[in-house]
Amino acid sequence: LIYLDYNATAPVRPEALAATTKALTAVGNASSVHAAGRDAALAVDQARERVAALLACSPNELIFTSGATEANNLALRSAATPGQSLVISAVEHPAVTEAAVAVADAVGSTVHTIGVHRDGTLRLDELEEALATSPALVSIMAANNETGVLSDLDLVVKIAHEAGALVHSDATQLVGRLPIDLRRLQLDLLSMSGHKFGAPQGVGALFARRGTVPAIRPLAHGGGHERGRRPGTLNVPGIVGLGAAAEAAARCLDQEASRIRLLRDRFETAVMTALPGTRRNGHPDRRLPGVSSLTFDGLPADAMLAAMPAIAASEGSACAAGAMEPSRVLLAMGLSRDEAECAIRFSLGYATTADDIDSAIRHVIDAERRVHAALYPNTT
Ligand code: PMP
Repeated sequence: LIYLDYNATAPVRPEALAATTKALTAVGNASSVHAAGRDAALAVDQARERVAALLACSPNELIFTSGATEANNLALRSAATPGQSLVISAVEHPAVTEAAVAVADAVGSTVHTIGVHRDGTLRLDELEEALATSPALVSIMAANNETGVLSDLDLVVKIAHEAGALVHSDATQLVGRLPIDLRRLQLDLLSMSGHKFGAPQGVGALFARRGTVPAIRPLAHGGGHERGRRPGTLNVPGIVGLGAAAEAAARCLDQEASRIRLLRDRFETAVMTALPGTRRNGHPDRRLPGVSSLTFDGLPADAMLAAMPAIAASEGSACAAGAMEPSRVLLAMGLSRDEAECAIRFSLGYATTADDIDSAIRHVIDAERRVHAALYPNTT
């Protein structure tokens, strides 16, 4: 199987596997005061430092969670204010859009959604207009999960802070793939998830800048773990895996990104040259190095994927209530339903090789020709 679905999840890095396995073979609750507990707590401290180093923040600005969904919920819940709005973009992950609606309902706030341009970049004019709704929080993703399009977070922070709003970013798809420096980029809150860059699934973190976020309102009630912000026995094996993956990713972030970008560009050039009916979705440059969202004109994504079983990639659609709904993200960018239904997301990552890409190119071209011949037998 040629795995080109890193935006869904990445293979566990060897460093993370080793760290998690070691933690699983040890015993110790990080809250216990005996030696075994202290060892677990030390391992968690080290992991926290490693994640903080990847983000360039302070370790005590991190709250470990079960992943980005929980981190997003925690961020939105903590920032929501009665009578003030939550501003999000039309291309956020459901872990933001759904959480925003629920949180707004709970506190007596409203959600204001701003659109994107055809290339997936944010409509800054709509962001400016949204400031009239007196936002408590502006939440804009760092990189889109379907197209990889990157947000200009510097500008978002500047605009939102001038209006007195806090800024959160769901950076799940960016962290571990491109550098981020929270000393420079003045986000107040950031969500991340380990499994997108080689940690085990089910562990992530919320960054909450010291001094700017009024108070973290825990989602659950229980013990005083994570300084009262996230109760429950710490997931030590997951957290140390997250730390190890963060350290491994940080070691060669720039080189990895360049290598992956070259492979992605080689893939797109070969496919788009051989199949002129193929269009790329999203800004050509302002996107993650490993993502290629392609629309194969007139060829539904499910038929294309069925014709290339050797490739693991994703449809640009989500299965909603048993029915295939075309991607919200692509529709928000102005694609028609037909165009959105014919989109496939290929996503590369740290373990993708040149051989993977060369065979993927052959499989995609071959699948396109076969699906085309089956659906349009009378054309050449
Ligand atoms: N946000 C984005 C942008 C994502 O891509 C994902 C994962 N699909 C999530 C949030 C949810 O992350 P997790 O699986 O860690 O809850």
